[in-house]
Amino acid sequence: MNIIFMGPPGAGKGTQAAVIVKELGIPHISTGDAFRLAIKQETPIGVKAKEFIDQGLLVPDDVTNGIVEERLAQPDCKKGFLLDGFPRTLAQAEALDKMLAAMERKLDHVINLKVDLNKLLVRITGRRICKTCGATYHIEFNPPKQEGVCDIDGGELYQRADDNEESVGTRLNEYHTKTEAPLIAYYGDQKLLREIDGDQSIDAVSKDIVSLLRG
Ligand code: ADP
Ligand code: AMP
Ligand code: ZN
Repeated sequence: MNIIFMGPPGAGKGTQAAVIVKELGIPHISTGDAFRLAIKQETPIGVKAKEFIDQGLLVPDDVTNGIVEERLAQPDCKKGFLLDGFPRTLAQAEALDKMLAAMERKLDHVINLKVDLNKLLVRITGRRICKTCGATYHIEFNPPKQEGVCDIDGGELYQRADDNEESVGTRLNEYHTKTEAPLIAYYGDQKLLREIDGDQSIDAVSKDIVSLLRG
């Protein structure tokens, strides 16, 4: 199963991806997570990506495509993959099609998580991430058992540097102009687009995605 999760920042892509990859036994490929790791490790890609991420802007396509191409070539992707947050531009979608054609693979579903704009800011500013395992929490909607501590491994929770009100406006604008408008049309034309109501409880959204994937 080769799947893409689309949706605005804060729609719940990462949260749902964690559930769905467990269910399907396929790798979760998040370009945002890959960039955050590269930034932490201060690699050349991390240094380059940070300039853009800090401003809420998309990282240039050549940098982003390179990361995905390398990751898809790993053996664990043979059984399928879940791409979360990639592609985000038409050029990335076209580059992905070329990568997949070279591997003689095809996309099965592009799942678009729909959430009202006014809900996204609350989701994003309340998001907390585990420093150790990357698990995602929300201070109100999905709180850990103990404040500031990961349920899974006791890791410290932190707030992403770009999860602030200034950055969110730019990120939403980037999403609407560069991602939503072109890619809804692109994948719609290919009959790959599936809409999911992301404005429900985390469990209800997971159930809808699982039943869609089970066909
Ligand atoms: P994305 O990966 O699309 O940016 P996340 O999965 O990180 O989004 O979710 C953004 C924030 O919203 C997180 O704090 C998460 O815990 C919370 N969240 C995710 N799904 C829901 C939901 N269905 N209802 C309420 N809060 C949610
Ligand atoms: P995310 O974790 O998906 O919210 O991504 C965090 C940030 O990483 C985004 O705001 C972008 O700056 C950058 N990023 C992640 N994925 C991509 C992508 N496919 N193309 C360009 N930039 C990306
Ligand atoms: Zn953790």
